Amino acid sequence: MGELLADHTTLRLGGPADRFLTHADPADWPSLAHSVRGERAAPFVLGGGSNTLAADAGYPGTVIRMATRGIIVRPLGDGLVEVVTQAGEPLSALVAFTVAEGLSGIEYLGGIPGTVGAAPVQNTGAYSQQISDTLTRITAYDWHLSRTVELRTAGCEFGYRTSAFKTQPGRWTILDIVLRLTLSPYAASVAYPHLAEALAVPLGARPPLAEAAQGVLNDRRNRGLRLPSRGPDARQVGSVFLNPPITRAQAATVRAADGPVYRDQNGRLRASAGWLLEQAGYHPATQVTPGVSCSTRRTLTLTAHNDATASSFGTALQTLASRVLATTTVRLTPEPVRPTSVESLAHS
Ligand SMILES: Cc1cc2nc3c(=O)[nH]c(=O)nc-3n(C[C@H](O)[C@H](O)[C@H](O)COP(=O)(O)OP(=O)(O)OC[C@H]3O[C@@H](n4cnc5c(N)ncnc54)[C@H](O)[C@@H]3O)c2cc1C
Repeated sequence: MGELLADHTTLRLGGPADRFLTHADPADWPSLAHSVRGERAAPFVLGGGSNTLAADAGYPGTVIRMATRGIIVRPLGDGLVEVVTQAGEPLSALVAFTVAEGLSGIEYLGGIPGTVGAAPVQNTGAYSQQISDTLTRITAYDWHLSRTVELRTAGCEFGYRTSAFKTQPGRWTILDIVLRLTLSPYAASVAYPHLAEALAVPLGARPPLAEAAQGVLNDRRNRGLRLPSRGPDARQVGSVFLNPPITRAQAATVRAADGPVYRDQNGRLRASAGWLLEQAGYHPATQVTPGVSCSTRRTLTLTAHNDATASSFGTALQTLASRVLATTTVRLTPEPVRPTSVESLAHS
């Protein structure tokens, strides 16, 4: 039997991959790509598996797990530096490194599981900071063109938890990313009201870098936003739904019930998916389907237990979304990615 995806995802769900490759040395990429090119299905690329719901049947093709490590700092002058990071580097290790080096720009992304290479895919973000804010270039392998390309941020269609990598699955494998960070003893200004409260600073303040980074880790722990290594919440992918876009009429209804409404970076009105779930009657620890319940800390996180399957997790997502639609008229979109076979368009 092939390698089980359950062994490589934080939900610990998912059957075998037809073929499973680990990419650990950047120098090996050309031969690895050559060995996969021409396969019927595009390869599925896995980082830390912390945003992936793999099927019980596994993946009918090649899975490439990105395990390349390495961070290089290049001074640019005028207090700016470029940081080049390999795709398999854990995002939390990169954040800790930059904070220790006195580099500001990604300090609010600490405590998010997963790899650097996956961060551009859903434009990973927290506390009003997202990877696209400081990203300048990406080196990726383009499976359509069968060659390595350099992509500029402007062409990556970044938005709230989305990008071209998410909307065109199977097209690119991200090999490394380049961030432009600022040498500064201070963190980026606090733009998220809850963070201001947690750090006990006014909105717009720039707290000391290390204090801000530690404050984020503490706040994530207090709110059940860290991945525990054991216990009832250990098998999860974090938030299971995106904060949905809403109409003005829906926003008025949410506001009338004292619910939160905000505008995203593109000016779109959005509601809080967690608040909507609570309106639909869900709470921490509510069981949704066999083996799947809301986490003991937050309603928006689903956790898998011993008798969970990928199928029961998928049914739980559907159940929650249907109840929210029926109760509030708002349509929820799941956040975790389901590896599905995409036809390979590679010119072999
Ligand atoms: C406790 C917890 C808290 C979380 N908090 C947050 C949060 O605050 N904000 C947030 O945005 N997310 C959060 N997440 C979700 C998740 O951790 C992030 O989205 C993370 O960036 C995913 O990284 P990964 O390496 O685990 O991705 P994976 O699950 O391995 O992959 C996710 C997607 O990216 C693709 N991918 C992975 N690597 C590459 C690559 N090198 N090239 C091309 N495609 C690739 C995969 O094919 C898949 O489509 C949280 C998850 C958990 C469990």
